[in-house]
Amino acid sequence: MLVRSLTQRIRLDGDLKRPVTYLSRRTGAKPKIEASTGETVPNGGGLEALCAEIGDCRGCGLASLRHNLVFGEGSEHAELVFVGEAPGEDEDAQGRPFVGRAGQLLTKIIGAMGLKREEVYICNILKCRPPGNRNPQPDEIAACEPFLIRQLQAIQPRVICALGTFAAHTLLKSEAPISVLRGRFHEYQGIPLMPTYHPAYLLRNPGAKKQVWEDIQMVMKTLAIRGQGAEQ
Ligand code: SF4
Repeated sequence: MLVRSLTQRIRLDGDLKRPVTYLSRRTGAKPKIEASTGETVPNGGGLEALCAEIGDCRGCGLASLRHNLVFGEGSEHAELVFVGEAPGEDEDAQGRPFVGRAGQLLTKIIGAMGLKREEVYICNILKCRPPGNRNPQPDEIAACEPFLIRQLQAIQPRVICALGTFAAHTLLKSEAPISVLRGRFHEYQGIPLMPTYHPAYLLRNPGAKKQVWEDIQMVMKTLAIRGQGAEQ
């Protein structure tokens, strides 16, 4: 209920034009970012503080089904953030994002970019696993999205890469197919956002690796990194 009440309070304060001071950093002032609902949500502290705040979140029905909440991992100073859909079985078991087969493929892609996992940041739209890896439900996304917004606030990356349909749809507020969205930069709160296929999709459709690599090369060009060569 913590997240639901937080979201409701943000909405209420936005309606009343009140400053949302309970999310403010005590020191420092990173640029403000707009929540999807249109409210201004000041930066809410670093990742560590946010992770502690999420704690044993009971904001949606997935809480009672998870083994571990998967907050995200990587550098708080990352220039590139990958946003996926939700934890799967391996991630739920380990409490870490993208550690199963799809995660291993993402790690290879990151390596082909000339980067290490710890140099980027990796997280998901949902922090808890939907049963049987079903699609995230709208109420679950609404409950969990404030956490993602605040992760992105804390990191302020130069580029966001949205992995798969749900990440792209949630961040861009678009319902266009990922096949239409990918292949060009969009914008999320002034940050270039590249949608591309989810690594799990690539495991089922290896022919799409070429398109993903094209998308990733555009990300690399924006970040001015040379990489190690095409992902295999
Ligand atoms: S998915 Fe998000 S909102 Fe739902 S219980 Fe997990 S952390 Fe909380």
